[in-house]
Amino acid sequence: MIDIKSLTLPELQEEMEKIGEKKFRAGQIYEWMHVKLVDSFDEMTNLSKSLREKLAETCEYTCLENVQTLVSELDGTRKYLFRLSDGYVVESVLMRYQHGNSVCISTQVGCRMGCRFCASTIGGKARDLTAGEMLDQIYRIQKDIGERVSNLVMMGTGEPLDNYDNAVKFIRMLSDEHGLNISQRNITLSTCGIVPRMRQLADEGFQITLALSLHAPNQEKRKALLPIAGKYEIHEAVDACRYYYEKTGRRITFEYSLVGGQNDSKEDAKQLYELIHGINCHVNLIPVNPVKERSYVQSERKVIVEFKNKLENCGINVTIRREMGRDIGGACGQLRKSYMDKEKKE
Ligand code: SAH
Repeated sequence: MIDIKSLTLPELQEEMEKIGEKKFRAGQIYEWMHVKLVDSFDEMTNLSKSLREKLAETCEYTCLENVQTLVSELDGTRKYLFRLSDGYVVESVLMRYQHGNSVCISTQVGCRMGCRFCASTIGGKARDLTAGEMLDQIYRIQKDIGERVSNLVMMGTGEPLDNYDNAVKFIRMLSDEHGLNISQRNITLSTCGIVPRMRQLADEGFQITLALSLHAPNQEKRKALLPIAGKYEIHEAVDACRYYYEKTGRRITFEYSLVGGQNDSKEDAKQLYELIHGINCHVNLIPVNPVKERSYVQSERKVIVEFKNKLENCGINVTIRREMGRDIGGACGQLRKSYMDKEKKE
């Protein structure tokens, strides 16, 4: 079966020619899938019935099933749980900001990176998501709210650079003028630091923002939180960010989850400054979200503010991530995890 929603327009044109259809049909089908966001071939009313039947026989049409939606009464944040055609579930989040609607998508079913404070990695990785499955998370959400999605972060479950080809294809299709046409400047890819892939991404010619999950000011502390640091050392990851900036001119984001008593001291802030100063960057401080399977605790508010001030006084751009959807809470991957735990019991 052809995974039709994961085909770029040129690939779809080629497929159409292969089955003896006119090339312009590809443009029509692409628009139905990626602009009009229809749920099936049946809705593609400017195609003949026979072509729709032929497509249904030869193609798989990715269409995620919405199994649960949690809506925050505080700020309108929506958490979605979607079921894939093979029964796995993934979660996505919609955040509403002044500047528009931002969606956070998953890139894999589970994750194999093993970051210590993250709930998404607890059961390991089941499989990669296809480009179509990444796109459809946004399509479902846009249809659900009836408003345009303008920003996209690849910060849900999974490591996007561990699913490189699909992730890159997804970015191309999402920012394609024939699709939703989301500006690359409004797309952020977050990685735990797979250095060769970060460098490869720098060479793709994209204008997206690269975010590195740094979370520690030195190799020793980083390795204790992120096993990937055992493979790619902290300085290599930061150098790859420098390279990304050189190639793209895009300011780097460093994500830094503050874990009480582990990486939040004044000395940590000083070392962090020494590590990243001189890079055109922005530091996003995230009070660690407690995960019930783990013992990490949030830093005290006072400590977080001191950490921020210390960096700011050295001239670093810093923000403390605003917590969204507190009432529908749970850290990354917890909605999916609680759903799976419940299913197991039943
Ligand atoms: N695999 C990618 C993207 C997914 S995670 C990456 O590692 O960047 C998105 C961000 O949330 C990462 O910075 C991750 O380290 C962070 N994160 C995961 N669990 C968290 C938790 N419980 N509290 C705070 N931040 C967390």
